[in-house]
Amino acid sequence: MSDIKHDWTKEQILEIYNTPMMELLYQAATVHRESHDPNSVQVSTLLSIKTGGCPEDCGYCPQAARYHTDIEGNDLMTVSHVKAQALRAKASGSSRVCMGAAWRNVKDGAEFDDVLEMVRTINKLDMEVCCTLGMVTENQAKRLAEAGLYAYNHNLDTSEDYYKDVISTRAFQDRLDTIDNVRKTNVTVCSGGIIGMGEKVEDRAGMLVALATLNPQPESVPINALVAVEGTPMEDIEPISIWDMVRMVATTRIVMPQTQVRLSAGRTEMSREGQAMCFFAGANSIFAGDKLLTTPNPDVNEDMEMFKTLGLIPQKPFVKKAQPETVEASESEFNALGEKPKWSRPDHIIERNIEAKQKAKLQ
Ligand code: SF4
Repeated sequence: MSDIKHDWTKEQILEIYNTPMMELLYQAATVHRESHDPNSVQVSTLLSIKTGGCPEDCGYCPQAARYHTDIEGNDLMTVSHVKAQALRAKASGSSRVCMGAAWRNVKDGAEFDDVLEMVRTINKLDMEVCCTLGMVTENQAKRLAEAGLYAYNHNLDTSEDYYKDVISTRAFQDRLDTIDNVRKTNVTVCSGGIIGMGEKVEDRAGMLVALATLNPQPESVPINALVAVEGTPMEDIEPISIWDMVRMVATTRIVMPQTQVRLSAGRTEMSREGQAMCFFAGANSIFAGDKLLTTPNPDVNEDMEMFKTLGLIPQKPFVKKAQPETVEASESEFNALGEKPKWSRPDHIIERNIEAKQKAKLQ
């Protein structure tokens, strides 16, 4: 990765983002072709293995316990249920399973042991396994790596400046610290964000600066468009235009040329033509299944029809990095240390989040 630029500034990224659209598309597509097959798009399946009841206050998230949304909370799925879902996903063309749990952080214990077993099980199905479980310590990241985890997702969400308008229960640096813990293992990093949360274009560029100046850059960057869910503090925010999404994808592709750029939440609002433009601009992964954790997503059959129309081929697993080995629990060299990741408790208040919490109490 020696030819990758790591000293991006916000001004440079803004200049790319604001390039006239035709030129931007051309530049992004050119960079894309240098490191990726433009006709290959990875299909990933996102499984919510534990839904709802999260103690955090992310302003966009229906899984935060403090807001009143229609989300039905669930306890942790069983390993056999996860295996069945992974097999289904594999049969319909997915090469990666991402398991999400609505936790602030990982806690050592029976539930984490189950998650480790899920990782072993899916890796043995020869699929890439990704987890998004909140903050992790170095020891927990090493245990995940030893089980055969391929990627750990921990999104920065937005710029450091705008972060304070979205979340008050943790700080931007806490996110970077977890990414740092994952980087102490062989697990690849997946980290991106959400656009359309009321941020400025400068914040989009700011988030890309934070990601693109990491060394190494994240192997995977999901770009989500806000899905405004009733009951969350962001319920009234209008959807962004497809052009914002295309610009964001293209800019991400140019500043992180080797990264897998993932078209994530918000695809139901996009036409096929809009999605095709995102693929042309460098997106090379989609999430499949009718739900993305808790928000709607296009049906798998619709996606496969789109692939046919565009002549796209689902990417095989482990194209970018070899499959990790799985060490069985009985042979593990790591013990559960019972530690908690350290995180800051910023003292700022987000009026919008407080109002949503009060409204929920009245319902
Ligand atoms: S985004 Fe994650 S951490 Fe934030 S409230 Fe939702 S589940 Fe919790």
